[in-house]
Amino acid sequence: MTSPNLKAIALLALVSAALPAAAAVKIMTTTQGLAAVAKEVGGDRVQVESLSRGIQDPHFVDANPMLAVKLRNADLLVDVGLDLEIGWLPPLVNQSRNADIQPGGSRRLTAASAVAVLDVPAGPVSRAQGDLHPAGNPHFMTDPRRVERIAAAMADRLSALDGKNAAYYAQRLQDFQRRLAAAAARWQGELASLKGRRLFTRHRTMVYFLDWSGLVSAGELEPRPGVPPPPGHLADLVQVAQREGVKAIAVENYYDTKSAEVVARHSGAKLVLIPGDVGGEPGMDTYEKYLDVVVTRITGALR
Ligand SMILES: [Zn+2]
Repeated sequence: MTSPNLKAIALLALVSAALPAAAAVKIMTTTQGLAAVAKEVGGDRVQVESLSRGIQDPHFVDANPMLAVKLRNADLLVDVGLDLEIGWLPPLVNQSRNADIQPGGSRRLTAASAVAVLDVPAGPVSRAQGDLHPAGNPHFMTDPRRVERIAAAMADRLSALDGKNAAYYAQRLQDFQRRLAAAAARWQGELASLKGRRLFTRHRTMVYFLDWSGLVSAGELEPRPGVPPPPGHLADLVQVAQREGVKAIAVENYYDTKSAEVVARHSGAKLVLIPGDVGGEPGMDTYEKYLDVVVTRITGALR
């Protein structure tokens, strides 16, 4: 018969196995999309928090000094890169005094380094011209193939930082890859009859989505990434819409919709409000839920 002491020890062991908090790898991400992927890969061996919310424009996040305190204790910082967070992340990282999460540090993972980047400028581009994408397009989370590569990079880095759980991370990655592949096949089925259809976007947020989906850009409301739409440009887009039969204008829900409404009213194209990321709408807590809504809304407007 087991002695009461042994019973107590066994019970303690059970409790501590169920409470990973003490040993959990603390991951900070810059966006909720990256946080969702980190949770998929890290499961209960990680604690994940995002510095921004899915309802925010990730180019412009308020650099609350409280966030630097969270970064101080981070075991890993995952950012998007390509200057997406240049307006707010560097001061927070500096204030954190966490040397390992500096760019290139052992506890810094820049997601852009795991994917093929689109819109890389051929010549010099400066932010002084108002262009928010001088290093290439940072909005790659709209493509599930690239998200799969980012998940793999996270699994690699977590295994390096937390070797005893390497097999666990590899298994979680495999599960996520399998679910994502199944979802992608379903989404491609919805898109199949719409390949080549053209749509407008507000910002150049959808180039990776278009690359994956087979849909085509008819232009952006912003003449350059980050430059507000001037009326003359909108008038040009109305003509493009009429000439080419553009049926949809996809706009992330953190943008003002006035410009899109003008184009919609004069061209007959439909304004489609989409979430900008995981967390962009209530209950949208996984990557699959997020992209599911994007695909459903856009295909619905193009049919
Ligand atoms: Zn952008």
